[in-house]
Amino acid sequence: MVVARRLAILGCTGSIGQNALEVVRAYPGRFQVVSLAAARSVKKLAQQAIEFKPQVLTVIDQAAAAALKDLLPPGLAARVTHGPQGYLEAAVGAGAQVVLSAMVGSAGLLPTFAAVQAGLTVALANKETLVAGGEPVMAAARAKGAVILPVDSEHSAIFQALMGNDPGRVRCLWLTASGGPFRDYSAPELSRVTPAQALNHPNWSMGPKITVDSATLMNKGLEAIEARWLFDQPLDNIKVVIHPQSVVHSLVEYVDGSVLAQLGLPDMRLPIAFALAYPERLASALPALPVTSMGPLTFREPDLERFPALGLAYQAGRAGGTCPAVLNGANEVAVAAFLRGALSFTGIAQCVAAVLERHQAGAADSVAAVLEADRWAREAARAWLAARAA
Ligand code: MG
Repeated sequence: MVVARRLAILGCTGSIGQNALEVVRAYPGRFQVVSLAAARSVKKLAQQAIEFKPQVLTVIDQAAAAALKDLLPPGLAARVTHGPQGYLEAAVGAGAQVVLSAMVGSAGLLPTFAAVQAGLTVALANKETLVAGGEPVMAAARAKGAVILPVDSEHSAIFQALMGNDPGRVRCLWLTASGGPFRDYSAPELSRVTPAQALNHPNWSMGPKITVDSATLMNKGLEAIEARWLFDQPLDNIKVVIHPQSVVHSLVEYVDGSVLAQLGLPDMRLPIAFALAYPERLASALPALPVTSMGPLTFREPDLERFPALGLAYQAGRAGGTCPAVLNGANEVAVAAFLRGALSFTGIAQCVAAVLERHQAGAADSVAAVLEADRWAREAARAWLAARAA
């Protein structure tokens, strides 16, 4: 008999969280959800709580907690918590063995760090954890023996292509990028892109922030920085290739010239299930990759002139210290401004570049230093936006 693996799902109402719960639902008896954490989507969270019966439920603040309690049936025994302390409780206070870190933004860093420090297995989807906090998080993981398993499709592919091989024999890692919906747009066309167009991703269905990041290629830059930490490779050994079909999820090139890849349909349930059940591979009811009829797979170099965000990410990653945290914080503010119509699509990279230029890089060896850099970057980005609007 299989003992159910106890899961904490941080970010349970977002795209990754909902897909994870579908995986849980698909394998009865395999997983037990012990905590669910969301921001403000209390209706969805209440439904999930009724179905999965976790012990701990966390939301962003007291008002959301009150609204959630109103929606829960009287018989439900879950403890409702809120705020930073509540997220910590969801991560390490509910007896989870595996913490799925899928909260959006820097709020996800502290609970994820706590899970690593507690030596738990972390299925990682939150970007800030490694982009901004790579140094302290990986140091803690080594010290505490915590395992970090990537949930992102690209990193999951690399993880799988590295299995059974000597990481010292890697020549480089190739991250594939769909190129987003505007991969063939000219520079003038790019400057006129609307939020509605940007949210219409050709291959993947994801949350709005990451969908915009996919369109600017910032997402790939953030993934390169994450890969640097996850796989302990120099940033310049991590390369990006545009692959519009999103079938090859990434590749590992070895010193003998062999290149190993992982392929699959673009469905997040696949890498999520891999991370949650690792090292086991679960039999899946999802459609198989139609190998004999999938059509041509194409690859080409990314265009850094039209997509400067990718170059900015490499620049920040090479500079190191607090620069990646600043890149990420400024980008988040710029993307939010674009989504509410206050900034053009091409303005996103301009905002990030301006904030990076203004930044005096420091050490990023503690979570506190990382969060301070993140806070500074957001403020600087808002100031840049305000100055432009004036
Ligand atoms: Mg990805």
